[in-house]
Amino acid sequence: MSDELVAESRAIREIRINPIVPSESVLVATARSLRPRKQEEPAPRDTRKHVEACPFCRGNEEQTPPEIDVFPRNGKKEWQIRIVENLYPILGDDSSQPGFVYGLQQAIDGYGRHEVIIDSPQHGISIHEMDVAHIANLFGVYQQRMQQLYQLDERLKYVLVFKNFGPAAGASMAHTHSQIIATPVVPQNVFDEVQNSRQYFERNHHCIFCALIDEALTFEAKIYDRSSGEVVRKIDVGQYVIERGEKFIAIKPFASRYEWEIHILPLHHSSDFMNTRQADLDDFAQVLQRTMARLDAVIGGAQYNFFLHSIPQGEEFQNCDQSYHWHLEICPRTSIPNGFELGSGLFVNTTSPEQAAEQLRAVQL
Ligand code: AMP
Ligand code: ZN
Ligand code: ZN
Repeated sequence: MSDELVAESRAIREIRINPIVPSESVLVATARSLRPRKQEEPAPRDTRKHVEACPFCRGNEEQTPPEIDVFPRNGKKEWQIRIVENLYPILGDDSSQPGFVYGLQQAIDGYGRHEVIIDSPQHGISIHEMDVAHIANLFGVYQQRMQQLYQLDERLKYVLVFKNFGPAAGASMAHTHSQIIATPVVPQNVFDEVQNSRQYFERNHHCIFCALIDEALTFEAKIYDRSSGEVVRKIDVGQYVIERGEKFIAIKPFASRYEWEIHILPLHHSSDFMNTRQADLDDFAQVLQRTMARLDAVIGGAQYNFFLHSIPQGEEFQNCDQSYHWHLEICPRTSIPNGFELGSGLFVNTTSPEQAAEQLRAVQL
């Protein structure tokens, strides 16, 4: 057999079940014959520090709707991070249509908040180029604003912080920014994560995310085929770990939907991102910065989304404190979902998560 055929025969073709949300499972198919898959063109990086015409650059503050907050608070002109109302909000508090149910038509009032966080005065800076202290401040700002929004109005059931970076990730503005959307319902995928991890906890008496971390850090293990006795899978020490700090870990999920998807989680169990202390955010920021530097080294100019999943507020979620574990999901967008993915709900991943993790770990920082 040629080397290529040997490689082909070792290729993975398997449906990997997401242990928390089975509906988000993945078809990992690494056979060479499956390529080429339409790859997103890497976007030309806009590395400019300042752009005269950009509404998010310093000096153009009047081109955004009213400022909600600015950091540091005493440095209006020399701001490092700004929160503003979104000029084109997808949810707002001006909705005049009450929700209704009519037959199969069910609508919930589109009440909510949509805000833009201008991450840095530097127009084209990437996360891995920011100081660790700045990243820690940025996540501290997310935290404060989440707290304020939850307190502002009890109709807001979930506050989602996310970032779009690059056109392939849906970003329409080149200046580095993140967004907060507060919704009048808990989004279904967050709800499923919370509910399913609660059910796992009831059966197993420990948090499934903590178990995933333990598995990512696992010792060497072999999984045998019961009938033939052959080794079907060998798991090496730390095979799924990308980066590790004192308090946080970046892991490559076994069932990754996206080729370069990475999740960052606190090593100690914690359900609520808003409870993370500033000192811990420093460690988080370091893990995130190093993770993004690894991604940049491997896939140059990654276009990605990231989003925070944290326990929803409200009484009905209080008993999920031990079973839910907050995390940041980073989803680099290297290809466009196709008809099979939309039609089946199965994401196709053509790079084995084990191999992707190895490549990311191998980067010398
Ligand atoms: P994205 O589309 O992910 O790049 O996010 C950019 C967000 O900024 C969009 O939700 C826009 O509605 C919003 N936006 C665009 N221009 C402005 C502006 N001048 N001030 C405030 N928000 C803006
Ligand atoms: Zn700018
Ligand atoms: Zn946990």
